[in-house]
Amino acid sequence: MVKIRKKIYLDYAATTPVDKEVLKAMMPYFSLKFGNPSSNHSFGQEAIAAIDKAREKISRILNCQFDEIIFTGSATEANNLAIKGLVQNYNYTTFKRSSVSGRNKFHIISTNIEHESVQESLRELEKLGHKITHLKVNKDGFISVSDLENNIKNNTLFISVIYANNEIGTIQPVKEIGRLIEKINVKRKEQGLNRIYFHTDAVQALQFLECRPNWLKADLMTFSGHKIYGPKGIGALYVRRGTPLIPIITGGGQEFGLRSGTENIASIAGFAKAVELALKNREKRFKKILDLRNKLLNSIIKYNKDAKTNGSLLTRLPNNLNIRFPGVSNETLIIALDQAGAAVSVGSACSSGATTPSHVLTAIGLTEKQAKESVRITLGKDTTEKEIRKTAILINQKLKKLS
Ligand code: PLP
Repeated sequence: MVKIRKKIYLDYAATTPVDKEVLKAMMPYFSLKFGNPSSNHSFGQEAIAAIDKAREKISRILNCQFDEIIFTGSATEANNLAIKGLVQNYNYTTFKRSSVSGRNKFHIISTNIEHESVQESLRELEKLGHKITHLKVNKDGFISVSDLENNIKNNTLFISVIYANNEIGTIQPVKEIGRLIEKINVKRKEQGLNRIYFHTDAVQALQFLECRPNWLKADLMTFSGHKIYGPKGIGALYVRRGTPLIPIITGGGQEFGLRSGTENIASIAGFAKAVELALKNREKRFKKILDLRNKLLNSIIKYNKDAKTNGSLLTRLPNNLNIRFPGVSNETLIIALDQAGAAVSVGSACSSGATTPSHVLTAIGLTEKQAKESVRITLGKDTTEKEIRKTAILINQKLKKLS
């Protein structure tokens, strides 16, 4: 009998396989319970009940209000909605109130290691005349809260800081930032200045870190299904009650008017199940994955003394290893590893097709050449010790050949 070699997948930050229980939760909504939630008959009611149940489950887990969860077609869309929906609405309402030209141009603070969906949304606002400050991270991959505070201006409307980075896994002090903004907003109210809204992209954080918006003092938070063993093409935006958003997709007025389009019920049901499972198993998974990642790192550096990790290893997602092998092209190493049966990545999945070096790695001070010598290895809930041992052996073998 021919033995089929099982491939090793170590790119869980790019996407994860759908969990069996998630798939089970989704199945009825493809053909059995297929109604349109906007229909008044019983088929429609069954569909809307499924959405309500999913929204209720997620809002209970995140300790927020039912109508504060808006389902979107992806986290990319949720980031677009948070950023453009808020700033453009403010722009519009301020414009109506004021005839003074230029008064409706805002200042926005973000970082230089955001996901492309945040970066591009901000670029579009910049084209409309809004000013963006991109806070720099240090060589460990962190922004400074005092730097953020020093950059706040009278017309700052919005602050967006990624919770945990998708390339190097570093965790930003979002709780501290949330508390600071809350304090500043009290003073601003007394001064008659606009409130500052706080958004965080929590896509990579949700399965490992505390994500209750009230605890983080966040007004807007972005989540994605397929990073937590849910389906692709589903995301959610947490929108604190009273946060003035306008939709970026208009039509039938679904999702409390914030995201039109017939809801993707199967994916919504699957997403809710994935959130439930992720939160239930958070601590157990965190420990197991961290232990395996450290074993992998130790086995790699034991035989490759020149290897350097990118970003702090301390305040970092447990599943992320971003490592540089001087003198070895990451593209060549990745292809060699893939052919040998282990899938790792050059960085973010969205930009991995690009030849430009990672903006995150250059932000922490790597040269373009160094960025192109770096690989991202991300572990998942089903990663085994055997897979880690095998991957370490393969990496060591390939590096010997390539360097
Ligand atoms: N934000 C972060 C931090 C991500 O890692 C990703 C996915 O790579 C996204 C946003 C976009 O998620 P989606 O694929 O659901 O659009």
